[in-house]
Amino acid sequence: MAIKAEIIAIGSELLTPSNIDTNSLWLTEQLNRIGIEVQIKTIVGDDEALIEQSIRKALERSQVIISTGGLGPTEDDLTRMVFAKVLGRPLILDTQILEHIRAKFEARGLSMPENNQRQALIIKDAKILANSKGTAPGMYITEAEKRIIILPGPPREMKPMFEQEVLPLLKDLSQGMCVKRRVLKVTGLTESGLDESIAPIYSKYTNPSTTILFTNRELQIHLTAKAANESEADELLDELSKKLEARLGLYVFSSQGETLEEVTGKLLKLKNLTLATAESCTGGLLAERITSVAGSSAYFLQGVVSYSNHSKLTLLGVPLELIESLGAASAEVAEAMATGIRRLANSDIGISITGIAGPESDPSGKPIGLVYIGLATASEVSHKELRLQGEREQIRWHSSTAALDWLRRKLC
Ligand code: ATP
Repeated sequence: MAIKAEIIAIGSELLTPSNIDTNSLWLTEQLNRIGIEVQIKTIVGDDEALIEQSIRKALERSQVIISTGGLGPTEDDLTRMVFAKVLGRPLILDTQILEHIRAKFEARGLSMPENNQRQALIIKDAKILANSKGTAPGMYITEAEKRIIILPGPPREMKPMFEQEVLPLLKDLSQGMCVKRRVLKVTGLTESGLDESIAPIYSKYTNPSTTILFTNRELQIHLTAKAANESEADELLDELSKKLEARLGLYVFSSQGETLEEVTGKLLKLKNLTLATAESCTGGLLAERITSVAGSSAYFLQGVVSYSNHSKLTLLGVPLELIESLGAASAEVAEAMATGIRRLANSDIGISITGIAGPESDPSGKPIGLVYIGLATASEVSHKELRLQGEREQIRWHSSTAALDWLRRKLC
């Protein structure tokens, strides 16, 4: 039986539409690696009664309880006080930590605000977890058979503290069990098409287990292996993922976590080829994705957002007659845009996207989601027609994905 852990993410900002609790995702992965299963996650605002309830519940049902957040210097940072209350232990001012915090302020030429003193309050008998990246220390407490770990909220403080201070303290719980995951990322198939193709293979395995996941942006195969140690888990994952990759061929673009733009970029670099983009309906999204990869300047020369017909003519040299007779969302215009940007940037490859992203339909009667991708190289000019479904943002995203994927397949 795996040890059961529980994560409590504390902070009202995590309950707003703009902040995501990424800490618990990261912690889950770390815990799984040493065979500890996360059975419940809670997100709770800066409310004393609700935090207290969450902690009490966690102590009833989980062996390892990890909280993140609420260790700051302000009134609404309640974590240490509420844990102390639930555990029935006093908070004790640790003068060494206080001096350490004071020194950190002084090193920046500032005097420590009185509020920060509360960050030096430590629950009695807690082991102090050093914070190499911030002021608030974490705490590790054993209470009966339970382990309680109190971590700061900012991921840049929480992660090194967990890796350096907490992992060694939890290793004895791992019971020689390790859970590892691998994600194969797929393009060009539907969820059901993918399942149909690989179910005969994965259904023969219970370990690793297989889940197909369609995120808004891509199709993924999640493999989860349980083994005595990391290398045995890797062996199990290797065996199944090799079989799945052999079945899917070029449909799989990554098995090591890379994004499509990273994979395509690597191939361009490997082949020593340069690229330029001309985009209409994606408004620069393709160029943004390509340039989000560090080092992309080695292969990406130029991106043009050519939205109006006039700009397609003046910047890319697309003949106006072509646009007027066939419409901007047409195979011929896509090819002319790709040729035009290749010439303008003097690149090895030019790629273009033009189409109808909606929500207003095209006056010519062409359907929303009709998108053309053009590709020009020294030896060929070609296009692809896509009929995409969904909202404007999805159409734009999938158009840029299709362009990247076409390029990747050409380079493989
Ligand atoms: P500090 O010493 O910085 O005050 P803290 O422990 O009080 O640390 P919080 O004030 O709760 O941390 O959070 C600080 C910031 O850390 C948040 O604004 C948010 O950006 C980030 N953060 C907090 N909790 C999480 C979480 N669960 N996942 C991702 N980011 C988080």
